[in-house]
Amino acid sequence: MARRAPAGLPLLAARGRALGRHRDRCVLRLGPAGGPRLRRRRRGGLADPGGLRPAGRASAPRRPDRSVAVSRALDVLPGPWLLRSTSPGLEAHAELRGSLPQLDAASLLALVEASGLRGRGGAGFPFATKLRATVSAPGRRRHVVVNLSEGEPASAKDLALTLHQPHLVLDGASLVAHALGTREVHVVTAAEHPEAQEALLAALAERRKERRDGRRRWRLHEASPRFVGGEASAVTELIDGRPNLPVTSWRPTALAGVDGKPTVLSNGETYAQLAALVLGGAPVPGTPAEPGTRLLSIAGPTGTTRVVEVAHGTPWRTVLSTTELAAPVLLGGYHGTWAPAGALEQLSVSHADLTAAGLGLGAGVVLPLAPGTCPLRATAGVTRYLARQSAGRCGPCHQGLPALATALDAFLAGGSLERVERLRSLVVGRGACAHPDGTARLVGSALAAFPDEVAAHSDGQCRALRPALTTVGVR
Ligand code: SF4
Repeated sequence: MARRAPAGLPLLAARGRALGRHRDRCVLRLGPAGGPRLRRRRRGGLADPGGLRPAGRASAPRRPDRSVAVSRALDVLPGPWLLRSTSPGLEAHAELRGSLPQLDAASLLALVEASGLRGRGGAGFPFATKLRATVSAPGRRRHVVVNLSEGEPASAKDLALTLHQPHLVLDGASLVAHALGTREVHVVTAAEHPEAQEALLAALAERRKERRDGRRRWRLHEASPRFVGGEASAVTELIDGRPNLPVTSWRPTALAGVDGKPTVLSNGETYAQLAALVLGGAPVPGTPAEPGTRLLSIAGPTGTTRVVEVAHGTPWRTVLSTTELAAPVLLGGYHGTWAPAGALEQLSVSHADLTAAGLGLGAGVVLPLAPGTCPLRATAGVTRYLARQSAGRCGPCHQGLPALATALDAFLAGGSLERVERLRSLVVGRGACAHPDGTARLVGSALAAFPDEVAAHSDGQCRALRPALTTVGVR
């Protein structure tokens, strides 16, 4: 799992042993803003309408670590593309989008390549590359996985899609399954949001009644409420009946995923984008270089997360309020990067624009810092949370992240910045998954984005009006 020997191993080794051995996967088996506001609480329930039952559930405890939880309420705003309608029923969906065409693999690949569609789960990997690899892989069996689990606690876009446009997500998955010649599709939701699975069960019952998917078999799973439960290898482990934790993947999921077979595993929004492209019915928003939209989960000032759909190329000054633009913003969630106060004012919601500025959208989480809050203390709070989310399998992660969190707390109390930097560099690239890298990126980004605060803390001062507030997204 470690890609190179840790230079400062003694520092980490002195902290004791990892809780458990990391188990590698068996190599042999590997092969809108505007319009009326809709409000929906993260509660509620629908009866199982059609006898469909979940296929799997993570064995981890259902109680999530909500020490830095961001909100309990969800506002979903109509948008220009995926959220043109927020009515979840199949009748409204079919009326708006029409019937589902059946494309072969070559046709679907050509369409995806022309669109430049990138995954919406965080990494932004080109979907065409993933699809082509699975289509070209040897063997006959293939799998399709829709990941709606959103391990990132500040993200709510997949929940919003599931509650308001489940058929768009299911259409996208059905298109891929047909192109791959597979009947079975796995859909993974978050265990802490049972309403998502209930919404899917209702949608699947409608589809079965209307014969929208032919003989498609849908298998529902619940991912554990932990940060790394939605990581790709953790999701395939869950589906294969093993603990919902990341493992070292020697081959990409596209070639060796579920049951060691070629698997297209992508985020729910990616499938929804694909379905919207295929179904058409409206001009594709965005720019010629970046067609399409992004779903953003924006932490609001009253503990509410608003989910907005924004066309690529939209200026941030039309997405965020003046107050939010004037504050530091954590972009991309807890593994993301800090934009200093005012930095987004001249930028747009664009992969190219943000990358050039050293920023990234990840899975679309946008966390403006509450006015007067110390961004370093907020980062320290998130770092402590992330340290607790380690699966405890890789020593540099299990031992290194708590050490990094402790060192950051110590620095903020007048300790050594050098120790923070040293520990940060020690954990990068040393986990089976990207959790240590993402945590190190967050800390490094804070130290780079807020030099005045770093200097103040080095002198034993804190410039914030609210230094005690240690979380982002909470007001
Ligand atoms: S890097 Fe951390 S979270 Fe990822 S598998 Fe290893 S111990 Fe688990």
